[in-house]
Amino acid sequence: MNGKTFKDYYKLIDEIDLLCERLSDKHKKQMVCKAGCDKCCENYGVLPIEFYAIRAKMYGEVKRFEPAEDEIEEGICSFLKESMCTIYNYRPIICRSHGLPLLFMGEDDNWEMSICDLNFVDYDLSEFTENNTFPMDTYNSKLFMLNREFIKQNPQLGCDEYQFISLRRL
Ligand code: SF4
Repeated sequence: MNGKTFKDYYKLIDEIDLLCERLSDKHKKQMVCKAGCDKCCENYGVLPIEFYAIRAKMYGEVKRFEPAEDEIEEGICSFLKESMCTIYNYRPIICRSHGLPLLFMGEDDNWEMSICDLNFVDYDLSEFTENNTFPMDTYNSKLFMLNREFIKQNPQLGCDEYQFISLRRL
């Protein structure tokens, strides 16, 4: 298992955490996110680099995931216990931006926003800009490139770059 891409992944997490902290602070009056709210906690699928990096943190060692085929079943995340995340420190990137205004390019090449309906209820949505939203595409691209490198360096895992693995398999 190659440690360099894991290090790069953890660096990316640090960068994302800093940005999320800055954005949460900026929007603190409009965000009602708090411990005990689990509205965003679904069973997500994650790229192999996240799956194995989280697994390494949880178990200290990384074993090959079997089988390669995986279905992402809809439902509540299996790491949610009594409305709290039991892998909070290791949670994937998608969970770190929960509650923030998420900016992404839609299918018809228009910018779109994803916002929790508990947050920003009396906010003028036209005030969202690239400076006060979370740029999902930027971080998805960075993660995709790291994942590609990880897969290239770890052919023994038998992963492909478009594979998503259910968090439930951790
Ligand atoms: S990993 Fe934690 S934060 Fe992410 S969906 Fe599961 S319980 Fe929620």
